[in-house]
Amino acid sequence: MFNIIEKFLSIDGEGPSAGEIATFIRFLGCNLRCSWCDTKYSWEKESTTERLSSREIYDYIKENGSNNVTLTGGEPLIQENIHELLGILNNDENLKIHVETNGSVDIGCFKEKYKSGNISYIVDYKLPSSKMTECMNLSNLNSVDFNDTYKFVIGSKEDLNMAYDIIKKYDLTSKCLVYLSPVFGAIELNDIVEFMKNKKLNKVKLQVQLHKIIWDKNARGV
Ligand code: SF4
Repeated sequence: MFNIIEKFLSIDGEGPSAGEIATFIRFLGCNLRCSWCDTKYSWEKESTTERLSSREIYDYIKENGSNNVTLTGGEPLIQENIHELLGILNNDENLKIHVETNGSVDIGCFKEKYKSGNISYIVDYKLPSSKMTECMNLSNLNSVDFNDTYKFVIGSKEDLNMAYDIIKKYDLTSKCLVYLSPVFGAIELNDIVEFMKNKKLNKVKLQVQLHKIIWDKNARGV
């Protein structure tokens, strides 16, 4: 069984399916404590709204009728029964599964196990403003492929510089999609654009969180 914080149908606010409808499943629990976390409610067991089995989650996804599924948290890959759920989802080739993972969990074994291509990983790289940089699993930088996304969450100019260094050092743009995703309200978007222009940062996308533009920035379940 999984402790579910919230589940809902909405539009994907970020990532490669941004703007398309998607079913979201938010799990309880995170092993990190990012300074700017906007889903702190996912840390607390009291926020659990229901407990669902893998089959019940799958049935909910199918009822919603969206091909896109985002597993998020908290941290989905530390859920006790996550392999059971991923196994079921992996067998439905009509679904496109995005696993939003915080960058601290080694995705290598997951990619090895689920090879058929309908599961992809949106991997965060936590930069200095998060105070979680030392928790990053660097092997993920070599595990990602063209199906996956690296998301650098930018809260400061120092973050931008480190993101640039990592992208270049690991030649990330030749391996996977690469996004710069600003912490809402923490940095001017124009500063990021100027940085990208100055550094001639090709094949990197600036991505704003659509759901925070459409709804209140603190709204849940959207
Ligand atoms: S990894 Fe995500 S859920 Fe966990 S503390 Fe950081 S922002 Fe919050």
